[in-house]
Amino acid sequence: MAYFNVQTISLILVGLVNFVLGFLIYLREKENKSNLFFSLVALSVSWWVLTRALFEIFPVNNFIYVLGNFLYFSASLIPLFFVFFTYTFPSKKISLSKKKILFIIIPNLIIIWFILIPEFVVNNINQSVNGYKIITFGNGYFFYSLYIIYYFLWGFVNLIKKYKKSEGIIKIQLRYIFGGTFIATLFGVSTNLILPIFNSFRFFWLGPVMTIIMVVFIAYAIVKHHLLNIKIIATELFTGLIIIILFVDLFLARSPAEFFVKFGIFILVSIFGYLIIRNVLKMDRMMSELEAANIQLKKLDKAKSEFITIASHQLRAPLCAIKGYSSMLLEGSFGEIPKHARKPLDRILQSSVRLVLLIKDFLDLSRIERGKMEYDFQKINLKRLVEDIVEEFKTVNHKNLNLSFDVSPSLEGEKNKRDDFTVNIDQNKIRQVINNLIDNAMKYTPKGFVKVRLYKNPKKSAIVLQVTDSGIGMNRETLARIFEKFTRAKEGIFRINTEGIGLGLYVAKEIIKAHGGRVWAESPSPDTGKGSAFYLEIPTDFASKNSDKR
Ligand code: ADP
Repeated sequence: MAYFNVQTISLILVGLVNFVLGFLIYLREKENKSNLFFSLVALSVSWWVLTRALFEIFPVNNFIYVLGNFLYFSASLIPLFFVFFTYTFPSKKISLSKKKILFIIIPNLIIIWFILIPEFVVNNINQSVNGYKIITFGNGYFFYSLYIIYYFLWGFVNLIKKYKKSEGIIKIQLRYIFGGTFIATLFGVSTNLILPIFNSFRFFWLGPVMTIIMVVFIAYAIVKHHLLNIKIIATELFTGLIIIILFVDLFLARSPAEFFVKFGIFILVSIFGYLIIRNVLKMDRMMSELEAANIQLKKLDKAKSEFITIASHQLRAPLCAIKGYSSMLLEGSFGEIPKHARKPLDRILQSSVRLVLLIKDFLDLSRIERGKMEYDFQKINLKRLVEDIVEEFKTVNHKNLNLSFDVSPSLEGEKNKRDDFTVNIDQNKIRQVINNLIDNAMKYTPKGFVKVRLYKNPKKSAIVLQVTDSGIGMNRETLARIFEKFTRAKEGIFRINTEGIGLGLYVAKEIIKAHGGRVWAESPSPDTGKGSAFYLEIPTDFASKNSDKR
Protein backbone atom coordinates (compact mmCIF):
# COMPACT_ATOMS: atom_id res chain seq x y z
CA MET A 1 0.00 0.00 0.00
CA ALA A 2 0.92 3.63 0.07
CA TYR A 3 3.90 4.79 2.00
CA PHE A 4 4.98 8.25 3.02
CA ASN A 5 8.62 9.23 3.15
CA VAL A 6 10.54 12.52 3.02
CA GLN A 7 10.32 12.55 -0.76
CA THR A 8 6.57 12.12 -0.97
CA ILE A 9 5.90 14.60 1.81
CA SER A 10 8.10 17.26 0.23
CA LEU A 11 6.49 16.57 -3.14
CA ILE A 12 3.03 17.04 -1.68
CA LEU A 13 4.00 20.25 0.10
CA VAL A 14 5.71 21.74 -2.93
CA GLY A 15 2.72 20.74 -5.05
CA LEU A 16 0.35 22.48 -2.67
CA VAL A 17 2.45 25.64 -2.44
CA ASN A 18 2.59 25.84 -6.24
CA PHE A 19 -1.13 25.28 -6.38
CA VAL A 20 -1.90 28.07 -3.91
CA LEU A 21 0.54 30.44 -5.61
CA GLY A 22 -0.97 29.76 -9.02
CA PHE A 23 -4.47 30.19 -7.73
CA LEU A 24 -3.68 33.45 -5.90
CA ILE A 25 -1.94 35.04 -8.84
CA TYR A 26 -4.93 34.27 -11.02
CA LEU A 27 -7.40 35.61 -8.44
CA ARG A 28 -5.59 38.93 -8.08
CA GLU A 29 -6.46 40.17 -11.52
CA LYS A 30 -8.61 37.80 -13.45
CA GLU A 31 -8.53 39.84 -16.67
CA ASN A 32 -4.76 40.15 -16.65
CA LYS A 33 -3.51 37.59 -19.15
CA SER A 34 0.08 37.69 -17.84
CA ASN A 35 -1.26 36.65 -14.46
CA LEU A 36 -3.42 34.01 -16.10
CA PHE A 37 -0.52 32.37 -17.93
CA PHE A 38 1.78 32.56 -14.96
CA SER A 39 -0.83 30.94 -12.77
CA LEU A 40 -1.32 28.27 -15.45
CA VAL A 41 2.43 27.61 -15.30
CA ALA A 42 2.27 27.32 -11.50
CA LEU A 43 -0.87 25.16 -11.63
CA SER A 44 0.56 22.79 -14.20
CA VAL A 45 3.75 22.57 -12.13
CA SER A 46 1.59 21.80 -9.10
CA TRP A 47 -0.32 19.17 -11.07
CA TRP A 48 2.94 17.58 -12.25
CA VAL A 49 4.44 17.59 -8.73
CA LEU A 50 1.32 16.09 -7.15
CA THR A 51 1.10 13.41 -9.86
CA ARG A 52 4.74 12.72 -9.12
CA ALA A 53 3.83 12.23 -5.43
CA LEU A 54 1.13 9.72 -6.40
CA PHE A 55 3.63 7.97 -8.64
CA GLU A 56 5.90 7.65 -5.62
CA ILE A 57 3.12 6.36 -3.38
CA PHE A 58 1.48 3.72 -5.59
CA PRO A 59 3.05 0.31 -6.03
CA VAL A 60 3.90 -1.03 -9.45
CA ASN A 61 0.76 -2.40 -11.09
CA ASN A 62 -1.42 -1.54 -14.07
CA PHE A 63 -2.45 1.76 -12.57
CA ILE A 64 1.13 2.95 -12.27
CA TYR A 65 1.46 2.75 -16.05
CA VAL A 66 -1.49 5.11 -16.46
CA LEU A 67 -0.01 7.39 -13.79
CA GLY A 68 3.38 7.36 -15.49
CA ASN A 69 1.84 8.51 -18.76
CA PHE A 70 -0.17 11.09 -16.93
CA LEU A 71 3.06 12.37 -15.38
CA TYR A 72 4.56 13.05 -18.79
CA PHE A 73 1.33 14.56 -20.01
CA SER A 74 1.26 17.02 -17.05
CA ALA A 75 4.89 17.96 -17.57
CA SER A 76 4.24 18.72 -21.25
CA LEU A 77 1.81 21.51 -20.25
CA ILE A 78 4.40 23.46 -18.26
CA PRO A 79 6.58 24.68 -21.15
CA LEU A 80 3.45 25.34 -23.22
CA PHE A 81 2.03 27.82 -20.72
CA PHE A 82 5.52 29.16 -20.08
CA VAL A 83 5.90 30.12 -23.74
CA PHE A 84 2.49 31.83 -23.68
CA PHE A 85 3.50 33.66 -20.53
CA THR A 86 6.77 34.90 -22.00
CA TYR A 87 4.92 36.26 -25.03
CA THR A 88 2.40 38.10 -22.86
CA PHE A 89 4.28 39.46 -19.84
CA PRO A 90 4.10 42.29 -18.76
CA SER A 91 1.06 43.16 -20.88
CA LYS A 92 -2.43 42.42 -19.63
CA LYS A 93 -3.64 41.31 -23.04
CA ILE A 94 -2.57 38.60 -25.45
CA SER A 95 -0.90 40.15 -28.44
CA LEU A 96 -0.46 36.89 -30.37
CA SER A 97 -2.16 36.22 -33.69
CA LYS A 98 -4.44 33.17 -33.98
CA LYS A 99 -1.90 31.60 -36.31
CA LYS A 100 0.87 31.96 -33.77
CA ILE A 101 -1.32 30.55 -30.98
CA LEU A 102 -2.01 27.49 -33.14
CA PHE A 103 1.66 27.26 -33.96
CA ILE A 104 2.42 27.08 -30.23
CA ILE A 105 -0.39 24.67 -29.32
CA ILE A 106 -0.15 22.12 -32.17
CA PRO A 107 3.25 20.62 -31.19
CA ASN A 108 1.87 20.10 -27.71
CA LEU A 109 -1.19 18.31 -29.12
CA ILE A 110 1.11 16.08 -31.17
CA ILE A 111 3.11 15.25 -28.04
CA ILE A 112 -0.09 14.43 -26.14
CA TRP A 113 -1.10 12.17 -29.03
CA PHE A 114 2.34 10.49 -28.80
CA ILE A 115 1.80 9.90 -25.09
CA LEU A 116 -1.57 8.31 -25.85
CA ILE A 117 0.02 5.83 -28.28
CA PRO A 118 0.70 2.81 -26.05
CA GLU A 119 4.38 2.26 -25.23
CA PHE A 120 5.53 5.06 -27.58
CA VAL A 121 6.78 7.48 -24.95
CA VAL A 122 6.57 5.50 -21.72
CA ASN A 123 7.30 1.90 -22.58
CA ASN A 124 7.25 0.11 -19.27
CA ILE A 125 7.53 0.69 -15.53
CA ASN A 126 9.30 -1.70 -13.18
CA GLN A 127 10.43 -1.74 -9.61
CA SER A 128 14.20 -1.77 -9.27
CA VAL A 129 16.02 -3.73 -6.58
CA ASN A 130 16.86 -0.60 -4.63
CA GLY A 131 13.28 0.55 -4.48
CA TYR A 132 13.11 3.07 -7.33
CA LYS A 133 10.58 2.76 -10.08
CA ILE A 134 12.38 2.36 -13.37
CA ILE A 135 10.75 3.70 -16.51
CA THR A 136 11.83 2.46 -19.89
CA PHE A 137 11.04 4.63 -22.86
CA GLY A 138 9.86 4.10 -26.41
CA ASN A 139 10.95 5.87 -29.58
CA GLY A 140 8.59 8.77 -28.91
CA TYR A 141 10.66 9.83 -25.91
CA PHE A 142 13.18 11.53 -28.17
CA PHE A 143 10.47 13.79 -29.64
CA TYR A 144 9.05 14.38 -26.22
CA SER A 145 12.43 15.56 -24.85
CA LEU A 146 13.04 17.67 -27.91
CA TYR A 147 9.65 19.34 -27.44
CA ILE A 148 10.26 20.12 -23.74
CA ILE A 149 13.78 21.50 -24.23
CA TYR A 150 12.86 23.46 -27.33
CA TYR A 151 9.87 25.10 -25.63
CA PHE A 152 11.80 26.10 -22.53
CA LEU A 153 14.59 27.60 -24.65
CA TRP A 154 11.96 29.43 -26.69
CA GLY A 155 10.50 30.91 -23.49
CA PHE A 156 13.87 31.92 -22.08
CA VAL A 157 14.89 33.63 -25.32
CA ASN A 158 11.62 35.56 -25.19
CA LEU A 159 12.31 36.60 -21.60
CA ILE A 160 15.84 37.76 -22.44
CA LYS A 161 14.52 39.83 -25.35
CA LYS A 162 11.93 41.44 -23.09
CA TYR A 163 14.52 42.02 -20.36
CA LYS A 164 16.73 43.96 -22.77
CA LYS A 165 13.87 46.20 -23.84
CA SER A 166 12.33 46.83 -20.42
CA GLU A 167 13.25 49.12 -17.59
CA GLY A 168 12.37 49.91 -13.98
CA ILE A 169 10.23 47.55 -11.96
CA ILE A 170 9.44 45.34 -14.99
CA LYS A 171 13.15 44.70 -15.43
CA ILE A 172 13.49 43.66 -11.79
CA GLN A 173 10.43 41.40 -12.06
CA LEU A 174 11.81 39.79 -15.20
CA ARG A 175 15.12 39.13 -13.46
CA TYR A 176 13.41 37.17 -10.71
CA ILE A 177 11.03 35.35 -13.00
CA PHE A 178 13.93 34.36 -15.25
CA GLY A 179 16.18 33.32 -12.34
CA GLY A 180 13.51 31.22 -10.63
CA THR A 181 12.16 29.48 -13.70
CA PHE A 182 15.62 28.92 -15.17
CA ILE A 183 17.04 27.15 -12.11
CA ALA A 184 13.86 25.10 -11.63
CA THR A 185 13.92 24.13 -15.31
CA LEU A 186 17.60 23.10 -15.14
CA PHE A 187 16.82 20.77 -12.24
CA GLY A 188 13.61 19.51 -13.81
CA VAL A 189 15.10 18.80 -17.24
CA SER A 190 18.28 17.18 -15.93
CA THR A 191 16.69 14.91 -13.29
CA ASN A 192 13.46 14.06 -15.10
CA LEU A 193 14.37 14.13 -18.76
CA ILE A 194 18.07 13.44 -19.17
CA LEU A 195 19.08 11.22 -16.24
CA PRO A 196 16.17 8.76 -16.90
CA ILE A 197 17.65 8.12 -20.37
CA PHE A 198 20.62 6.64 -18.52
CA ASN A 199 18.32 4.62 -16.29
CA SER A 200 19.08 6.82 -13.32
CA PHE A 201 15.98 7.47 -11.24
CA ARG A 202 17.71 8.28 -7.97
CA PHE A 203 17.03 12.01 -8.42
CA PHE A 204 13.69 11.59 -10.18
CA TRP A 205 11.89 13.15 -7.22
CA LEU A 206 14.30 16.08 -6.95
CA GLY A 207 13.25 17.93 -10.12
CA PRO A 208 9.63 18.43 -9.05
CA VAL A 209 10.70 19.42 -5.52
CA MET A 210 13.11 21.98 -6.93
CA THR A 211 10.22 23.91 -8.49
CA ILE A 212 10.08 25.42 -5.02
CA ILE A 213 13.01 27.57 -6.19
CA MET A 214 10.70 29.24 -8.64
CA VAL A 215 8.24 29.90 -5.83
CA VAL A 216 11.02 31.22 -3.55
CA PHE A 217 12.34 33.59 -6.21
CA ILE A 218 8.93 34.96 -6.87
CA ALA A 219 8.20 35.18 -3.14
CA TYR A 220 11.46 37.08 -2.66
CA ALA A 221 10.52 39.44 -5.45
CA ILE A 222 7.17 39.94 -3.76
CA VAL A 223 8.78 40.80 -0.42
CA LYS A 224 11.63 42.89 -1.74
CA HIS A 225 10.17 44.56 -4.74
CA HIS A 226 6.44 44.57 -4.14
CA LEU A 227 5.67 42.38 -7.09
CA LEU A 228 2.44 41.87 -5.18
CA ASN A 229 1.46 43.07 -1.78
CA ILE A 230 3.13 40.70 0.68
CA LYS A 231 0.60 41.04 3.48
CA ILE A 232 -2.21 40.10 1.16
CA ILE A 233 -0.31 37.17 -0.30
CA ALA A 234 0.60 35.98 3.21
CA THR A 235 -3.04 36.13 4.35
CA GLU A 236 -4.22 34.32 1.26
CA LEU A 237 -1.48 31.70 1.38
CA PHE A 238 -2.07 31.01 5.04
CA THR A 239 -5.85 30.78 4.69
CA GLY A 240 -5.53 28.66 1.56
CA LEU A 241 -3.14 26.23 3.25
CA ILE A 242 -5.34 25.84 6.33
CA ILE A 243 -8.33 25.03 4.13
CA ILE A 244 -6.32 22.49 2.11
CA ILE A 245 -4.97 20.84 5.26
CA LEU A 246 -8.46 20.63 6.76
CA PHE A 247 -9.70 19.13 3.49
CA VAL A 248 -7.00 16.47 3.47
CA ASP A 249 -7.68 15.83 7.15
CA LEU A 250 -11.31 14.98 6.27
CA PHE A 251 -10.15 11.76 4.63
CA LEU A 252 -8.22 10.70 7.67
CA ALA A 253 -11.40 10.54 9.79
CA ARG A 254 -11.83 7.16 11.44
CA SER A 255 -15.57 7.27 12.07
CA PRO A 256 -18.59 8.93 10.46
CA ALA A 257 -19.00 11.11 13.61
CA GLU A 258 -15.42 12.34 13.37
CA PHE A 259 -15.92 12.98 9.67
CA PHE A 260 -18.96 15.17 10.33
CA VAL A 261 -17.19 17.20 13.01
CA LYS A 262 -14.22 17.70 10.72
CA PHE A 263 -16.52 18.51 7.83
CA GLY A 264 -18.28 21.15 9.96
CA ILE A 265 -14.98 22.75 10.88
CA PHE A 266 -13.84 22.61 7.27
CA ILE A 267 -16.99 24.37 6.04
CA LEU A 268 -16.81 27.04 8.76
CA VAL A 269 -13.14 27.78 8.17
CA SER A 270 -13.74 27.88 4.42
CA ILE A 271 -16.52 30.44 4.81
CA PHE A 272 -14.47 32.62 7.15
CA GLY A 273 -11.41 32.21 4.97
CA TYR A 274 -13.41 33.33 1.95
CA LEU A 275 -14.74 36.36 3.81
CA ILE A 276 -11.28 37.32 5.06
CA ILE A 277 -9.71 37.04 1.63
CA ARG A 278 -12.56 38.96 0.03
CA ASN A 279 -12.15 41.83 2.49
CA VAL A 280 -8.40 41.83 2.18
CA LEU A 281 -8.74 42.02 -1.59
CA LYS A 282 -11.19 44.89 -1.27
CA MET A 283 -8.75 46.72 1.00
CA ASP A 284 -5.97 46.04 -1.46
CA ARG A 285 -7.96 47.57 -4.27
CA MET A 286 -8.65 50.64 -2.18
CA MET A 287 -4.99 50.86 -1.22
CA SER A 288 -3.80 50.75 -4.80
CA GLU A 289 -6.33 53.43 -5.74
CA LEU A 290 -5.06 55.58 -2.88
CA GLU A 291 -1.49 54.91 -3.87
CA ALA A 292 -2.17 55.98 -7.44
CA ALA A 293 -3.89 59.15 -6.22
CA ASN A 294 -0.98 59.83 -3.92
CA ILE A 295 1.58 59.48 -6.70
CA GLN A 296 -0.49 61.86 -8.81
CA LEU A 297 -0.67 64.37 -5.97
CA LYS A 298 3.06 64.21 -5.38
CA LYS A 299 3.67 64.85 -9.06
CA LEU A 300 1.35 67.84 -8.98
CA ASP A 301 3.00 69.11 -5.82
CA LYS A 302 6.41 68.88 -7.42
CA ALA A 303 5.19 70.62 -10.55
CA LYS A 304 3.70 73.36 -8.35
CA SER A 305 6.97 73.81 -6.43
CA GLU A 306 8.92 74.02 -9.67
CA PHE A 307 6.44 76.46 -11.13
CA ILE A 308 6.69 78.67 -8.06
CA THR A 309 10.48 78.65 -8.24
CA ILE A 310 10.58 79.56 -11.91
CA ALA A 311 7.84 82.19 -11.66
CA SER A 312 9.40 83.75 -8.58
CA HIS A 313 12.84 83.96 -10.15
CA GLN A 314 11.36 85.60 -13.24
CA LEU A 315 9.47 88.13 -11.13
CA ARG A 316 12.38 89.05 -8.94
CA ALA A 317 14.58 90.81 -11.48
CA PRO A 318 12.00 93.35 -12.78
CA LEU A 319 10.78 93.95 -9.25
CA CYS A 320 14.25 94.70 -7.97
CA ALA A 321 14.58 97.21 -10.81
CA ILE A 322 11.30 98.92 -9.78
CA LYS A 323 12.39 98.94 -6.15
CA GLY A 324 15.89 100.22 -6.90
CA TYR A 325 14.82 102.99 -9.31
CA SER A 326 11.94 104.24 -7.17
CA SER A 327 14.29 104.40 -4.20
CA MET A 328 16.87 106.29 -6.26
CA LEU A 329 14.18 108.65 -7.58
CA LEU A 330 13.07 109.40 -4.01
CA GLU A 331 16.63 110.04 -2.98
CA GLY A 332 16.93 112.57 -5.77
CA SER A 333 19.46 110.68 -7.84
CA PHE A 334 17.69 111.82 -11.01
CA GLY A 335 17.02 115.37 -9.94
CA GLU A 336 14.54 117.00 -7.58
CA ILE A 337 11.15 115.26 -7.34
CA PRO A 338 8.10 117.53 -7.12
CA LYS A 339 6.42 117.29 -3.70
CA HIS A 340 3.09 115.94 -4.96
CA ALA A 341 4.92 113.07 -6.72
CA ARG A 342 6.74 111.91 -3.59
CA LYS A 343 3.76 110.18 -2.01
CA PRO A 344 2.85 107.98 -5.01
CA LEU A 345 6.51 107.24 -5.53
CA ASP A 346 6.82 106.20 -1.91
CA ARG A 347 3.80 103.92 -2.44
CA ILE A 348 5.55 102.28 -5.38
CA LEU A 349 8.64 101.72 -3.25
CA GLN A 350 6.70 100.27 -0.30
CA SER A 351 4.67 97.93 -2.52
CA SER A 352 7.73 96.69 -4.34
CA VAL A 353 9.50 96.07 -1.01
CA ARG A 354 6.51 94.02 0.12
CA LEU A 355 6.41 92.10 -3.15
CA VAL A 356 10.11 91.29 -2.91
CA LEU A 357 9.48 89.86 0.56
CA LEU A 358 6.52 87.89 -0.71
CA ILE A 359 8.59 86.37 -3.49
CA LYS A 360 11.23 85.51 -0.95
CA ASP A 361 8.58 83.60 1.00
CA PHE A 362 7.56 81.75 -2.16
CA LEU A 363 11.12 80.80 -2.95
CA ASP A 364 11.68 79.68 0.65
CA LEU A 365 8.52 77.61 0.52
CA SER A 366 9.59 75.78 -2.60
CA ARG A 367 13.12 75.30 -1.22
CA ILE A 368 11.72 73.88 2.03
CA GLU A 369 9.42 71.55 0.14
CA ARG A 370 12.17 70.27 -2.07
CA GLY A 371 14.46 69.87 0.96
CA LYS A 372 16.88 72.33 -0.63
CA MET A 373 16.92 75.06 2.03
CA GLU A 374 20.51 75.85 2.92
CA TYR A 375 21.71 77.35 6.18
CA ASP A 376 24.87 79.17 7.04
CA PHE A 377 25.25 78.83 10.82
CA GLN A 378 27.36 81.28 12.80
CA LYS A 379 27.69 82.37 16.42
CA ILE A 380 25.61 85.55 16.65
CA ASN A 381 24.60 87.82 19.52
CA LEU A 382 20.83 87.67 19.31
CA LYS A 383 20.35 90.77 21.47
CA ARG A 384 22.27 92.94 19.05
CA LEU A 385 20.39 91.49 16.10
CA VAL A 386 16.97 92.16 17.67
CA GLU A 387 17.97 95.67 18.69
CA ASP A 388 18.93 96.34 15.10
CA ILE A 389 15.67 95.06 13.71
CA VAL A 390 13.55 97.01 16.19
CA GLU A 391 15.43 100.21 15.30
CA GLU A 392 14.63 99.62 11.64
CA PHE A 393 10.94 99.17 12.41
CA LYS A 394 10.90 102.42 14.36
CA THR A 395 11.62 104.27 11.11
CA VAL A 396 8.51 102.81 9.44
CA ASN A 397 6.17 103.08 12.42
CA HIS A 398 3.50 105.02 10.52
CA LYS A 399 0.72 104.18 13.00
CA ASN A 400 2.72 105.59 15.88
CA LEU A 401 2.52 102.40 17.89
CA ASN A 402 4.46 102.20 21.11
CA LEU A 403 7.28 99.96 19.87
CA SER A 404 9.63 98.88 22.64
CA PHE A 405 12.45 96.44 23.16
CA ASP A 406 13.75 95.20 26.48
CA VAL A 407 15.93 92.42 27.77
CA SER A 408 14.50 90.71 30.83
CA PRO A 409 16.82 90.10 33.70
CA SER A 410 17.91 86.52 33.68
CA LEU A 411 16.73 84.14 36.31
CA GLU A 412 18.83 83.51 39.38
CA GLY A 413 22.20 81.99 38.95
CA GLU A 414 22.41 83.38 35.47
CA LYS A 415 23.12 86.95 36.52
CA ASN A 416 26.76 86.90 35.53
CA LYS A 417 25.96 85.86 32.05
CA ARG A 418 23.25 88.42 31.67
CA ASP A 419 24.59 89.75 28.44
CA ASP A 420 25.38 86.49 26.79
CA PHE A 421 22.77 85.98 24.12
CA THR A 422 25.02 84.13 21.74
CA VAL A 423 23.33 81.53 19.59
CA ASN A 424 24.36 79.42 16.66
CA ILE A 425 22.12 80.63 13.83
CA ASP A 426 21.85 81.62 10.21
CA GLN A 427 21.66 85.35 10.78
CA ASN A 428 19.77 86.26 7.62
CA LYS A 429 17.15 83.57 8.09
CA ILE A 430 16.55 84.42 11.75
CA ARG A 431 16.41 88.10 10.86
CA GLN A 432 13.72 87.24 8.34
CA VAL A 433 11.74 85.33 10.99
CA ILE A 434 11.95 88.12 13.59
CA ASN A 435 11.13 90.68 10.92
CA ASN A 436 8.05 88.69 10.08
CA LEU A 437 6.88 88.46 13.71
CA ILE A 438 7.31 92.20 14.35
CA ASP A 439 5.86 93.09 10.96
CA ASN A 440 2.79 90.94 11.71
CA ALA A 441 2.40 92.48 15.16
CA MET A 442 2.46 95.95 13.65
CA LYS A 443 0.17 94.98 10.76
CA TYR A 444 -2.49 93.46 12.96
CA THR A 445 -2.38 96.18 15.65
CA PRO A 446 -4.40 99.29 14.77
CA LYS A 447 -3.36 101.15 17.93
CA GLY A 448 -1.51 100.59 21.18
CA PHE A 449 1.81 98.83 21.59
CA VAL A 450 4.17 96.22 20.24
CA LYS A 451 6.59 94.92 22.85
CA VAL A 452 9.66 92.92 21.95
CA ARG A 453 11.32 91.11 24.84
CA LEU A 454 14.31 88.82 24.98
CA TYR A 455 14.90 86.46 27.90
CA LYS A 456 16.68 83.30 28.81
CA ASN A 457 15.05 80.02 29.61
CA PRO A 458 17.83 78.47 31.70
CA LYS A 459 15.87 75.27 32.25
CA LYS A 460 16.13 74.49 28.60
CA SER A 461 19.31 76.44 27.91
CA ALA A 462 17.45 78.43 25.32
CA ILE A 463 16.79 82.05 24.48
CA VAL A 464 13.22 83.17 24.01
CA LEU A 465 12.05 86.13 21.96
CA GLN A 466 8.58 87.34 22.81
CA VAL A 467 6.60 89.73 20.60
CA THR A 468 3.39 90.97 22.25
CA ASP A 469 0.91 93.38 20.74
CA SER A 470 -2.38 95.03 21.63
CA GLY A 471 -3.88 94.17 18.24
CA ILE A 472 -6.88 92.23 17.03
CA GLY A 473 -5.68 88.93 18.50
CA MET A 474 -6.72 85.53 17.20
CA ASN A 475 -9.48 83.12 18.06
CA ARG A 476 -8.79 79.50 18.92
CA GLU A 477 -9.53 78.25 15.44
CA THR A 478 -7.09 80.68 13.85
CA LEU A 479 -4.44 80.01 16.48
CA ALA A 480 -4.49 76.33 15.71
CA ARG A 481 -3.72 76.87 12.06
CA ILE A 482 -1.61 79.99 11.52
CA PHE A 483 1.63 78.03 11.17
CA GLU A 484 0.26 76.04 8.24
CA LYS A 485 1.00 77.31 4.76
CA PHE A 486 -1.47 79.66 3.08
CA THR A 487 -3.45 80.04 6.29
CA ARG A 488 -4.83 83.42 7.26
CA ALA A 489 -7.47 84.44 9.74
CA LYS A 490 -10.60 85.88 8.18
CA GLU A 491 -10.63 88.83 10.54
CA GLY A 492 -7.01 89.58 9.64
CA ILE A 493 -7.61 89.52 5.93
CA PHE A 494 -10.74 91.59 5.72
CA ARG A 495 -10.13 94.25 8.28
CA ILE A 496 -6.49 94.93 8.55
CA ASN A 497 -4.24 93.74 5.82
CA THR A 498 -5.15 92.46 2.41
CA GLU A 499 -1.72 91.76 1.06
CA GLY A 500 -0.42 88.74 2.96
CA ILE A 501 -0.89 85.24 1.68
CA GLY A 502 -0.26 83.34 4.90
CA LEU A 503 3.20 82.00 4.18
CA GLY A 504 5.36 84.00 6.62
CA LEU A 505 4.63 81.98 9.74
CA TYR A 506 4.93 78.66 7.92
CA VAL A 507 8.37 79.59 6.61
CA ALA A 508 9.29 80.91 10.10
CA LYS A 509 8.31 77.60 11.68
CA GLU A 510 10.40 75.62 9.21
CA ILE A 511 13.44 77.87 9.67
CA ILE A 512 13.22 77.63 13.47
CA LYS A 513 12.82 73.85 13.23
CA ALA A 514 16.13 73.72 11.36
CA HIS A 515 17.67 75.62 14.28
CA GLY A 516 16.43 73.02 16.76
CA GLY A 517 13.99 75.54 18.24
CA ARG A 518 10.26 76.20 18.16
CA VAL A 519 7.81 79.00 17.56
CA TRP A 520 4.32 79.32 18.98
CA ALA A 521 1.56 81.85 19.60
CA GLU A 522 -0.92 82.79 22.27
CA SER A 523 -3.93 85.06 22.19
CA PRO A 524 -6.72 85.49 24.74
CA SER A 525 -9.48 86.20 22.21
CA PRO A 526 -10.09 88.61 19.35
CA ASP A 527 -11.48 92.09 19.86
CA THR A 528 -10.66 92.19 23.55
CA GLY A 529 -7.76 94.49 22.82
CA LYS A 530 -5.52 92.04 24.55
CA GLY A 531 -3.80 91.18 21.33
CA SER A 532 -1.45 88.32 20.63
CA ALA A 533 1.90 87.06 21.79
CA PHE A 534 4.36 85.20 19.57
CA TYR A 535 7.28 83.27 21.00
CA LEU A 536 10.49 82.14 19.41
CA GLU A 537 12.73 79.74 21.29
CA ILE A 538 16.27 79.06 20.07
CA PRO A 539 18.50 76.63 21.96
CA THR A 540 21.93 77.97 22.94
CA ASP A 541 23.61 74.62 22.60
CA PHE A 542 22.43 73.77 19.10
CA ALA A 543 25.10 71.94 17.15
CA SER A 544 24.30 72.63 13.54
CA LYS A 545 25.17 71.19 10.25
CA ASN A 546 25.74 73.85 7.65
CA SER A 547 22.85 72.94 5.46
CA ASP A 548 19.37 71.62 5.77
CA LYS A 549 19.68 67.85 5.57
CA ARG A 550 16.18 66.97 6.64
P1 ADP B 1 0.32 86.82 6.39
O1 ADP B 1 0.60 87.81 7.44
O2 ADP B 1 1.04 87.05 5.12
O3 ADP B 1 -1.13 86.57 6.17
P2 ADP B 1 1.56 84.91 8.18
O4 ADP B 1 1.89 83.49 7.97
O5 ADP B 1 2.64 85.83 8.61
O6 ADP B 1 0.91 85.41 6.83
O7 ADP B 1 0.39 84.98 9.22
C1 ADP B 1 -0.69 84.08 9.11
C2 ADP B 1 -1.93 84.63 9.77
O8 ADP B 1 -1.74 84.67 11.19
C3 ADP B 1 -2.25 86.06 9.40
O9 ADP B 1 -2.99 86.10 8.19
C4 ADP B 1 -3.08 86.52 10.58
O10 ADP B 1 -4.41 86.10 10.43
C5 ADP B 1 -2.48 85.76 11.75
N1 ADP B 1 -1.55 86.59 12.53
C6 ADP B 1 -0.20 86.59 12.48
N2 ADP B 1 0.34 87.43 13.37
C7 ADP B 1 -0.70 88.01 14.02
C8 ADP B 1 -0.82 88.98 15.07
N3 ADP B 1 0.25 89.56 15.63
N4 ADP B 1 -2.06 89.30 15.49
C9 ADP B 1 -3.15 88.75 14.92
N5 ADP B 1 -3.11 87.83 13.93
C10 ADP B 1 -1.90 87.46 13.48
